Amino acid sequence: MYPPASALQSARILSIQQPWPAAIIHGKSPENRSWQRNYRGLLILHASAALDRQALTDPRITTALAGITALPRGAVVAVATLTDIHRDNQCCRPWGDPGAFHWTLTDVIALPTPVPWRGGLGLRHVPADSNLVSLITRSFAGEPGVQHREGNAA
Ligand SMILES: [Zn+2]
Repeated sequence: MYPPASALQSARILSIQQPWPAAIIHGKSPENRSWQRNYRGLLILHASAALDRQALTDPRITTALAGITALPRGAVVAVATLTDIHRDNQCCRPWGDPGAFHWTLTDVIALPTPVPWRGGLGLRHVPADSNLVSLITRSFAGEPGVQHREGNAA
């Protein structure tokens, strides 16, 4: 079930370097952060333009992404629900990192077509004057053309 436009408009955007967003799409939870927020709810997962090259050889990644070759960058790639943030207590292995805040993600839905979008730091609001919600909704609807620079590609 895809989130409605109203939910997307009030969601938050989180940029994550590949290959981690791809791993989230393929079952990784939690997302590890050095910081936390009070926000809970719908997250728009944005794959940063930058790549975490070191992670490409992480055994958890090579296992989770076996056979996966496409790692879209500079684009929104999924939505998820952030249900909890807690400090590591030797929990959430294998994906939860020691010493990190664990952001528990559920109901992860990959966009059928990634939506080019600019990255950023922190947990961000969806700009009210942007067409991001429209682009995500159209991707879910399977409408073609959303990759053709209609967004604010990073
Ligand atoms: Zn945990």
